[in-house]
Amino acid sequence: MSDLICQRILLKLSGEALMGEGDFGIDPGVIARMATDVKELVDAGIQVGMVIGGGNIFRGEGLAKAGIDRVSGDHMGMLATVMNSLAMRDALQKTGVAAHAMSALKIDQVCEPYIRNKAIAHLERGDVAIFAAGTGNPYFTTDSAASLRAIEIKANLLVKATKVDGIYSADPMKDPDAEFYSRLSYDRILSEGLKVMDATAIVLCRDNEMPLRVMNINDAGALMRLTQGEDIGTLVEL
Ligand code: UDP
Repeated sequence: MSDLICQRILLKLSGEALMGEGDFGIDPGVIARMATDVKELVDAGIQVGMVIGGGNIFRGEGLAKAGIDRVSGDHMGMLATVMNSLAMRDALQKTGVAAHAMSALKIDQVCEPYIRNKAIAHLERGDVAIFAAGTGNPYFTTDSAASLRAIEIKANLLVKATKVDGIYSADPMKDPDAEFYSRLSYDRILSEGLKVMDATAIVLCRDNEMPLRVMNINDAGALMRLTQGEDIGTLVEL
């Protein structure tokens, strides 16, 4: 453990990260590769908590635009995160890693309820804890859930995995002149409106001094190198 800079991380994956090249749902090959990356961390003695979004299935905001009541839509979105969490639990278990899905909404036949001390006990045992159903409340996002759970479980680092290498001044997929930032403050993200996580998530991290690393999920092995001290992606600090 001595060469590791993190003992406990909270990894946030968007639902879209699970789609691969598709435009809906889960690509089994992609989720299996992500599970392999997480197994590498677990095997190295790093405690891993995870939050997975639901945007590959449903988002409340999009459903509201299509005429569904916003709160019902958010409930559907949260249930989508449960589906993704079950798929990740299954993928991790197939690699031989013990994993638990813990839900912020009560669905006891499907998931364990989220109980903070039980989550910490899972992590201390070396099992992965996947925090499903976001915060359990409408009008929030899984980014906010990731900040909240990272703070609650006293993670050393919150890692937000994205499709790009870190935080840029503009979308690098659309703007070739977008500037890459290797370091940023929470306040600069908020004042410049940089698209990283929603403001609630950033404020929670800032007010609780939770360091945040934004990195590319498609860079295989990068998570392991990050926890060994390599400067990967963008680091957000005070
Ligand atoms: N959601 C919610 N409360 C939460 C977390 C999520 O209502 O605490 C709902 C919301 O509708 C959101 C959807 O679940 O759009 C999926 O989560 P998110 O959009 O954060 O997923 P991601 O973009 O990370 O895939």
